[in-house]
Amino acid sequence: MSLEAQLQNYARLLIRTGCALKPGQEVLLTAPVEAAPFARMVVQEAWEAGAGGVTVEWVDDTVSRLKYLHAPQSAFEKVPEWLALQRNSIAQKGGVILSLEGDDPDGMAGVDPSRFTAWSRAVHRDCKAFYDGMDLGRNVWCIAGAATPAWARKVFPGISEPEAMEKLWRAILSTARSDGPDPAKAWTEHSAAFQRRVKLLNARQFDALRYTAANGTDFTVGLNKNHVWAGGGAETVDGTWFFPNMPTEEIFTTPHRDRAQGIVHSALPLNYNGGLIQDFWIRFEDGKAVDCGAAQGLELLKSILAVDEGAKHLGEVALVPHASPIAQTGILFYSTLYDENAACHLALGKGFPECVEGGLEMDEEALKAHNVNLSATHVDFMIGTADLSITGILSDGAEVPVFREGNWAGEFI
Ligand code: ZN
Repeated sequence: MSLEAQLQNYARLLIRTGCALKPGQEVLLTAPVEAAPFARMVVQEAWEAGAGGVTVEWVDDTVSRLKYLHAPQSAFEKVPEWLALQRNSIAQKGGVILSLEGDDPDGMAGVDPSRFTAWSRAVHRDCKAFYDGMDLGRNVWCIAGAATPAWARKVFPGISEPEAMEKLWRAILSTARSDGPDPAKAWTEHSAAFQRRVKLLNARQFDALRYTAANGTDFTVGLNKNHVWAGGGAETVDGTWFFPNMPTEEIFTTPHRDRAQGIVHSALPLNYNGGLIQDFWIRFEDGKAVDCGAAQGLELLKSILAVDEGAKHLGEVALVPHASPIAQTGILFYSTLYDENAACHLALGKGFPECVEGGLEMDEEALKAHNVNLSATHVDFMIGTADLSITGILSDGAEVPVFREGNWAGEFI
């Protein structure tokens, strides 16, 4: 199949399967200007699927960088009124939110990290309806990759730009299971495979998970009573099945905000706001990050923990086998969307309301009472090494193998 034909299928997959677009629904598409030709294919697919409106928010890495370098601090403390209005009103009217990611991994190098922190706080406050719409299952949302020259050169150094672009597109298409004749069918099968393990994990209701690896990881995280594992896809409160991430390989839940204990070491570098954090570790006591270290990017790591009180606690525990297709490509994508699906990970910050029973109907106070972490941020970091062991601990203390040697074990194989 030609690359062009595969891209057309991919655009259709994102609109019809990822976003499950319904006739009359609005689409808010965020896309890198460098990926404009593909973004236009997505726009065409949206109209063909009966979209009621399509709005494109173009992202230009250079323009963003210039703002981060030169704008006054006040520009990061408040979202322009028109931008908040656009996002909030489309979300409130039930629009779908589709984001194409193709950031230059080095695009924000050297920017003062406190500016990201300020912007993250402002955007979650001023675009509350937009974020609540996604977090509380009111809006369909989907994040997917789109190749851009700067990203391709970073992932495939030492070859020409057109070659690197083609390689990156091929990797995006294969990991999104969109390189065959019927991507929609491939996703139906992928989704069914998730459901079996999600069911098993939900039935087990582990009280805690214990992680050990030769790199020094020795860590136990408590799970909530009536926690819910999810993965593969998600459902809105009105019953629309969609895929928040394409690709996706993870099964995840939200842990108890005050029951993480011990030390975790990173398995992959973390690309955060254009900077790289390498070979790092975080030590937790009673759920809170109390100490950390890094061979590179320590200040950036500390800036994540400083976003707010919740940024020091965990919001996500995700299980990804080392044998996953993304891990098997052996490519470091410098993009969380891909790299988080290559390895078991944790996330600092906001927990997922849908990961406790009845959580989507709870307000912030109720979520807090159910030990779901609240924060303006959510940052994944990879801890899944090839030798990782994860043991599920039942409430009576009995132990059940979940992962051995980096992959599903026992009843979860
Ligand atoms: Zn995750």
